[in-house]
Amino acid sequence: MEFEPHTGDADLTVDDVHLGLGPDDQPRHLSPSSAGLYEQCPRKWRFRYVERLPDPPGIPALVGTFAHLVLEHLLQLPNGERSQEQARELARDLWPHFETETDYVALNLDDDGSRSFKWKAWQAVEGLWTLENPDDTNVHATEQEVQVLIGEVPFRGIIDRLDVVKEQLVVTDYKSGKAPDQQFAQRPLKQVMFYAAAIAELTGAAPLGARLHYLGQRTLSIRVTDHNLGAARRDLAETWTSLTSDANTDDFATATGPLCAWCPFLGACADGQAEVIERHRNGRVRADAPGLAVVTALAG
Ligand code: SF4
Repeated sequence: MEFEPHTGDADLTVDDVHLGLGPDDQPRHLSPSSAGLYEQCPRKWRFRYVERLPDPPGIPALVGTFAHLVLEHLLQLPNGERSQEQARELARDLWPHFETETDYVALNLDDDGSRSFKWKAWQAVEGLWTLENPDDTNVHATEQEVQVLIGEVPFRGIIDRLDVVKEQLVVTDYKSGKAPDQQFAQRPLKQVMFYAAAIAELTGAAPLGARLHYLGQRTLSIRVTDHNLGAARRDLAETWTSLTSDANTDDFATATGPLCAWCPFLGACADGQAEVIERHRNGRVRADAPGLAVVTALAG
């Protein structure tokens, strides 16, 4: 299996705001990104949300954050005003504030680095036009916050965009990371199906579809049916049950695998370190994986 590390996705940062742990460290809400993180590795979830170990966003994630910001403002404009020139103007207006934000400052980029960052962000923004003409899009809402009980799961999240197609809602999310191969499309689509389940719960009507715009690459889309809506609800319920049970006993298992070599919490995780060392011994860790430096430093 071709392994691609997960980079350049701003959604984790956006949804994190809404996770919310109670004073007893019990989760109060489930968002698509926290559900995804828990499914990837329960211990990783604990490191991030309970121990709150640092996980500063890197350049790809922040490029995605800025591109999301520009597109959010662009798609709020009326049809007929969503041109690339307008997007450029918005990017120019939004940049002075963005470049003073802590996460961006922490990158400590020099002039060349900053130019390269802006170029990558613009490529992501411009990438929308390879997927659709934003001027033709019938936008219902952008950055739509949703909070609703789905079965017994307190769900919370932010949908990048809700469109209207054939008088029905369509959930649309932007991605600035690499689009997965078709055989791995189900996992990212699950995230937008969670949003579709939330919209169905809130409005009483199932959305027509859900889609992921991988900016500059391609769109993954799924038609919403009773069947896949039911699967999304069941997935959420199972994840929530398992997560709250782990939180009750404070017992979060490790799920070791190729992602350990890219895990920001590897330095705190003995199981992950053993996994990376073993994989490295067998030549199964990419040379640019940050985890190699972590295990080397720990060995020294
Ligand atoms: S290093 Fe691996 S096992 Fe440990 S928290 Fe990270 S992903 Fe999970």
